Amino acid sequence: MSTTTTQPRRGFSGPDQPPEDVMRACVHCGFCLPVCPTYRETHRERSSPRGRIWLIKAVSEGELDISDPVFKSEMSLCLNCRACEAVCPSGVQYGELVESARAQIVQHEPQPASARAAKAVGMKLLLGSPRATRAASYGAKVYAKSGLGSAVGATGLMSKIGLGHAEALRPAMQDEFLVAGRESWPAIGSRRGTVALLAGCVMSTAFAEVHRATARVLARNGFDVVVPPNQGCCGALSVHAGEADHGRALAKRNIDALGGPEFDAIIVNAAGCGAAMKEYDFLLREDPAYADKAATFVERVKDASEFLAEAGLVETPGALPITATYQDACHLAHAQRITKQPRELLRAIPELDLVEMSESDLCCGSAGIYNLLQTEMAGQLRERKVDHATATGAAVIVSANPGCMLQMRAGLAARGSDVQVEHLMTILDRAYAQVEQETPGA
Ligand code: SF4
Ligand code: SF4
Repeated sequence: MSTTTTQPRRGFSGPDQPPEDVMRACVHCGFCLPVCPTYRETHRERSSPRGRIWLIKAVSEGELDISDPVFKSEMSLCLNCRACEAVCPSGVQYGELVESARAQIVQHEPQPASARAAKAVGMKLLLGSPRATRAASYGAKVYAKSGLGSAVGATGLMSKIGLGHAEALRPAMQDEFLVAGRESWPAIGSRRGTVALLAGCVMSTAFAEVHRATARVLARNGFDVVVPPNQGCCGALSVHAGEADHGRALAKRNIDALGGPEFDAIIVNAAGCGAAMKEYDFLLREDPAYADKAATFVERVKDASEFLAEAGLVETPGALPITATYQDACHLAHAQRITKQPRELLRAIPELDLVEMSESDLCCGSAGIYNLLQTEMAGQLRERKVDHATATGAAVIVSANPGCMLQMRAGLAARGSDVQVEHLMTILDRAYAQVEQETPGA
């Protein structure tokens, strides 16, 4: 008979440990509590940023086991929305703590077979290879066009097996995927520079037209737009899930593909991807071959709205007589601190009436694949967001993140609402298209 007993694992070990100095920077003031979506929904200290930092510190100091169920569940319940970071007077880089804590859980705790399989197939296979992403997206397109999706939906089967929310979030695939290396857009008018566009993973299939709209807007403003080959997924979903090694492999591939000196900037139009790419330096800080390259790379990563607002529009867009409200994506507003630029661009569109919603920067519950895993909290936050957005009376909700767009579209569809959700670059592109209509032959 074996006498081996499993010893509790106290303290962190190995790579990707939560940085001690970041933990110590928290002075427990509680300023972050009112902005934390999970605290606002639960009113539990342990579900607040301060409570989670306490839990991470307790594991670090050996007072709590890494397998403690409260520790593990709170690391999962956090949306990693970074709202706490944006208001913290001590500058606590909370995202570094929670992502490292998750990486430690993945390293040291046994993962359920279902989670291992989902990560192996969903994350490493499908997101790891643009070809595999396209194949899966093509399959999803065939499934939707065959009418099977509607037929299955009518049976209520997906809801019965607990996948109703996943079905509601399934993006519609576009006819023409964007394949990196195959399309480019020359600058229109006086040339101001050359930029590289991140194609990403699902963005390149389900949101390919957002990419083309982004490229047309950039070209219209004097930039050659290239979608360099050999790039791929930004790695955000892997890093958020604690799969830091996979995230690092994806980051290195993008640095090699997009980091050439011929590009004035690396343009990203998905807030979550941009935030992840601006943090490649932290992710690769211990990699001797890539640490310096990553530090240089992050300086050139720009959200499309940030880049255009900095460069300035060379031509006024055409008129769009619509009422719109803008939804701040967490990874744009909190992680990248970009809130004014998208609004400036919308206000540059003649006849567009921009109305503000309440709690625009409170997470909508999307948060990568959070809405597939933490369905209850994600659902509560989605309803809160849709309530605020629809209360404005706007016909269009504008966002700069595909995940938020899918989350809000699902919430609106469930209510039978005809309010549209559009990407900021799609709206701008549509406004520029009006210029041609207003001045035929221009
Ligand atoms: S994370 Fe920042 S805001 Fe929150 S309790 Fe700590 S020091 Fe205060
Ligand atoms: S990242 Fe968001 S959900 Fe997580 S503790 Fe901070 S504010 Fe709360």
